[in-house]
Amino acid sequence: MDPRYDILFEPIQIGPVRAKNRFYQVPHCNGMGHRWPQAMAEMRAMKAEGGWGVVCTEECEIHPTSDLSGLALMRLWDDSDLAVHELMVEKVKQHGALAGIQLVHNGSEVANYLSRMPPIAPTAIPTGNQPSVQARELSKQDIREVRGWYREAALRARKAGYDIVYVYASHSEMTLPFQFLSKHFNQRTDEYGGSLENRARFLRELLEETKEAIGDTCAVALRITVDEMLGEGGYSANNEGREIVEMLADLPDLWDVNVSDWSNDSMSSRFGSEAGQEDYVRFVKDVVDAPVVGVGRFTSPDTMVSQIRRGVLDLIGAARPSIADPFLPRKIEEDRVDEIRECIGCNMCTTSDFLAYPMRCTQNPTTGEEWRKGWHPEKISPAGSQDRVLIVGSGPAGLECALALSNRGYHVVLSEARDVLGGRVVQESNLPALSEWRRVADHRTHLLSTKPNVETYLASRLTAGEILEFGFGRIVLATGARWRTDGVGRGNRLPIEVTGGAEIVAPEDVLSGRKLTGHVLIFDDDQYYLASALAQRLCEDGCTVTFVTPSSMVSPWSEYTLEQHKIQQTLMSMGAQIICNKTLTAVHGGTATLECGYLGTESTVEAGTVIPVTSRSPNDTLYHELHEMEERFADHGIKSVDRIGDCLAPGTIAMAVYAGHQHARQLDDPASHVSGFKRENYFQSPQQSSQA
Ligand code: ADP
Ligand code: SF4
Repeated sequence: MDPRYDILFEPIQIGPVRAKNRFYQVPHCNGMGHRWPQAMAEMRAMKAEGGWGVVCTEECEIHPTSDLSGLALMRLWDDSDLAVHELMVEKVKQHGALAGIQLVHNGSEVANYLSRMPPIAPTAIPTGNQPSVQARELSKQDIREVRGWYREAALRARKAGYDIVYVYASHSEMTLPFQFLSKHFNQRTDEYGGSLENRARFLRELLEETKEAIGDTCAVALRITVDEMLGEGGYSANNEGREIVEMLADLPDLWDVNVSDWSNDSMSSRFGSEAGQEDYVRFVKDVVDAPVVGVGRFTSPDTMVSQIRRGVLDLIGAARPSIADPFLPRKIEEDRVDEIRECIGCNMCTTSDFLAYPMRCTQNPTTGEEWRKGWHPEKISPAGSQDRVLIVGSGPAGLECALALSNRGYHVVLSEARDVLGGRVVQESNLPALSEWRRVADHRTHLLSTKPNVETYLASRLTAGEILEFGFGRIVLATGARWRTDGVGRGNRLPIEVTGGAEIVAPEDVLSGRKLTGHVLIFDDDQYYLASALAQRLCEDGCTVTFVTPSSMVSPWSEYTLEQHKIQQTLMSMGAQIICNKTLTAVHGGTATLECGYLGTESTVEAGTVIPVTSRSPNDTLYHELHEMEERFADHGIKSVDRIGDCLAPGTIAMAVYAGHQHARQLDDPASHVSGFKRENYFQSPQQSSQA
């Protein structure tokens, strides 16, 4: 290992426990939790194996009044939940990591769909999760009871074997202790409301009582927001954000500090860079003696070292970098820094929390599949034959397929029509603020360049005839997809009417560097990120941009990547005209006709150029041409011709990477067939069922 990274591997004492190094996987959701516990436990174990000194759970509900049903978080309502935790703890500890648990009561931020209990809060306020429902105000007797729930949960956590137990008062409105702290949620007039000292009373009691209950053997961590990023109106280092740290300075064994809300804490790379929280959290170490952990989408070991040497943090916290590369610490330790699969900050991982599906990651196709498919991020079975593989197309699907196949030991030839590897991901990463996405291509391109069993050909557009003549045993077509220009998408199932010489421009043209001027209308029926990023580029280029969407907001799916608000805010502040709830139905010369999604009424808007971002057509001509010659395959030694990624079914970059990886795992291994994942059916016999 490079000696300058030695400091990252120093052990750190955290209260009564000792972490073997400074790599700390902070709590993060994963869409599995109590619903797919074996998958969750194996995912955590992988991080411990990869060298993280501390591996934590996601938030873990302590009581049925904090019931996030609909989502798949952890639960510790009673002893019947213990087995799940014991499983995770055992797996994490097998690799020498400490196991941490983030106990939570979400107060008013739950709908309690399963328990059907009224939510609770410091003051009677509406819940954040279900319109028309309010939380009930806690009486002082209630508060005593809630403290008892926390204590019981802490004792259970210790019983499960955890080393670090959290009191969680972060992410603004998401946690009950923060609701007590915040004047926006706490309008009590008793000793739990009013002054900061009073509003902090509940949190202080929780910390003291947790320490008293388990502090002799477990470290008690406090995860707290020190800046809400709301300016003067919010909690920050210039006001109560600092005072609360001063007030509680001596209590926690570990300070886990961050900014709020979640979209700021897990800021996507489109809106924030590595170490982006430093200015907000660095004061904490000046105030407290206990170790401090914080996050900042750290992927560079030099940045990590700098954080420690400059006294910003003691432990390098990571959620996303540990998802993108569970083996990040080991790669630093083994002098393999260039092999780190760096997080690109796309927040595909956060979608799993909102949509309650097993976590996925654009960079790491194995995450969420450690148990379900037995996929290890660093291990793969050896080649099942001597077949040489030709991969056509080097987008995320082709690149990942080539890398995984080469890791299996296959001889791979990668052919790319353009003069650069990377396909759509390289083009899209040229859009404003998406440059980090290029890491998807860079990581794979670099590793492929080190492989003796990989040949890469650029500017090499292959025809079906050529491919047949080459006679590779296996042919994989990863030729991608192209945007339709006829307006067909989710809303318009038939092409829109285009007359009078209207100029329709495909997104690829802008991605390839074509400069537009004047009035440009972007019709976004794709509803994720691309249309908004194109709009941003055109605004920067000085165009007058009209953004039309059938949705009620810009980029609705990016709510799940914590970006929607920021995206719409950006376009509005750049002067784009945003028209929601309308569909583009016709373009005539320089005028576009829009139809209201509710009333069906028509209106027109100026549009010198129209860019439909609606849907894509697979580039599958090659595939069909080859299959028309199928009877000649055997003569040429061809065993299979398959298509993967966008060429099969256009989707996200994460899906293309996954498809490439899956295809590589499956080659010559029928046992790992596409649908071959293990399920967790959790029927319990009547005798096993618990009483919540
Ligand atoms: P995916 O997301 O499925 O990986 P992309 O669209 O990102 O797809 O990448 C597809 C790549 O395939 C592009 O870089 C494109 O230039 C390349 N390509 C398409 N057709 C051919 C061909 N006939 N020969 C070689 N490369 C091709
Ligand atoms: Fe990073 Fe994107 Fe993977 Fe999340 S999904 S860990 S943001 S690369």
